[in-house]
Amino acid sequence: MAVSFPIPSYFTAIFIISRLMSIMGISKHLNNKLLPPLDNITDKLSLDPSAIESASQDFGHIVKSIPKAVLQPSSIADIASLINFSYNSSIPFTIAAKGHGHSVRGQAMANDGVVVDMTSMKKHRNGTGIWVSNDGVYADVGGEQLWIDVLNATLKHGVAPVSWTDYLYLTVGGTLSNGGISGQSFRYGPQISNVYEMDVITGKAEIVTCSPNKNSELFYAALGGLGQFGIITRARIPLEPAPKRVKWIRMLYNDFTAFTRDQELLISINGRHDSHALGYLEGSLLMDHGSPDNWRSSFFPPKHHPKITSSIINHRIIYCLEVVKHYDYQTQNTVDKELEQLLKGLSYMPGFMFEKDVLYAEFLNRVQRGELKARSQGLWDVPHPWLNLFIPKSQIQRFNDGVFKGIVLERNITTGPVLVYPMNRKKWDDRMSAVIPDEEIFYTVGFLHSSGFDDREAFDDQNKEILKFCEEAGIGVKQYLPHFTSKDEWVHHFGSKWETFQQRKFQFDPKMILSPGQRIFNNN
Ligand code: FAD
Repeated sequence: MAVSFPIPSYFTAIFIISRLMSIMGISKHLNNKLLPPLDNITDKLSLDPSAIESASQDFGHIVKSIPKAVLQPSSIADIASLINFSYNSSIPFTIAAKGHGHSVRGQAMANDGVVVDMTSMKKHRNGTGIWVSNDGVYADVGGEQLWIDVLNATLKHGVAPVSWTDYLYLTVGGTLSNGGISGQSFRYGPQISNVYEMDVITGKAEIVTCSPNKNSELFYAALGGLGQFGIITRARIPLEPAPKRVKWIRMLYNDFTAFTRDQELLISINGRHDSHALGYLEGSLLMDHGSPDNWRSSFFPPKHHPKITSSIINHRIIYCLEVVKHYDYQTQNTVDKELEQLLKGLSYMPGFMFEKDVLYAEFLNRVQRGELKARSQGLWDVPHPWLNLFIPKSQIQRFNDGVFKGIVLERNITTGPVLVYPMNRKKWDDRMSAVIPDEEIFYTVGFLHSSGFDDREAFDDQNKEILKFCEEAGIGVKQYLPHFTSKDEWVHHFGSKWETFQQRKFQFDPKMILSPGQRIFNNN
């Protein structure tokens, strides 16, 4: 945790303000009387080298951008005050909210600007950071809160959100700025489809409550908006009764066509309140790199490892279909039958179905075990040259031939998880900023590489080759957690949404202050 000046005296305050102003080249006075003067946040503005260092890096360990200062806010007004200060300056400086810094390409950084360390808000919420409504229908959650804390707090009331990410140590504001996807998305939509209302501080320092009915333009802009329109300080998340346990199943395929056909069949049962539907569906590749488990999850019983490994060696790639069915006391006697019905007739390799029965919370927090293991081996704080893509259903077979078989197998460097699973477009809302392919079903493919500090280039080269193949083959791919370096690439990425995206930027952050690390409007 970054440290502020220990004794925030009047003189320290004056020193920091004048230093920050001179560093930023600021001369103009503030004039917004509704907001506290900047003096109120000087003891929260840190120039401490350890705070600066921490704000200069992220989970990717690829980009380093050094801010001039770090704000450790204790209130929403502190954040508004900082934005107001920049907005009213003759030369505005950039400001990036940093959630948990789990971006991989510097998206939460602000070169020569100020990083807002959102986690510092947690200490000052006095237990109000996650508030469950009396009827258990929604939770009001601070943008700085981690999803793991949202899970634990809501479970105490017997309820929980329905849409998750695979890994829960991410902030609410961070995932809502992207999408927030996982195996629940086919049925419940991404996390951005599961928000009733938000409080957002815009790039003009206005604190705005927005929802589909109130200030809806800002609401839809901020969801999947890559932090461009405002800092999310509260989100109202719908809750439903939480299942007690899950049946967790993995089935292995050597035939990609059968694998995707079965995935698509299973996600066709997707009614939000359809008790026959699965609670979760994902998929991944298994390739010949030692154990069939990886840092993301260990699942297969060790006694079956030899048979799985020999199947991988025979076929070079095995496709793993992973599903979950929720159950509780009312359904514990029928869940096995339901599952049997659902999985009847699927074309996985006979003898290659594996099952676990675990608590709902244990399932949702499954990746943390992998994190702890990777950390203990020194394999967590390493470069992560990730590539996440959305592929239209009509192109997924070509993608398998050209990328999984043609590039990934040939280069033979991929050791980390490669995810591949479909989603239903109708569960997304096109008014939001998030960009997805046009087809009704599209796949997400995630290459979640870890590399050494010396061999990252090989993974970057592979990523480039994959993108080049997609471009030349006309696959119509869209990046998730996108990373581009030129404006033209961003315009191409947003496609028909670009005009709206740009117009919303002019409306809510006309001085281009927010989230410069995305390099959309600050890409010089
Ligand atoms: P940061 O990296 O801190 O910020 C991301 C962006 O959002 C930045 O532009 C930042 O300025 C902006 N931002 C941060 N907070 C706010 C706020 N309150 N208001 C407005 N803008 C804000 N994603 C998935 O969808 N599904 C997954 O299953 C998944 N698994 C992951 C597993 C791991 C191990 C990791 C490292 C990442 C994973 N991600 C996943 C990606 C993750 O959702 C994004 O990287 C997300 O941005 C991380 O959240 P964060 O809190 O660390 O955000």
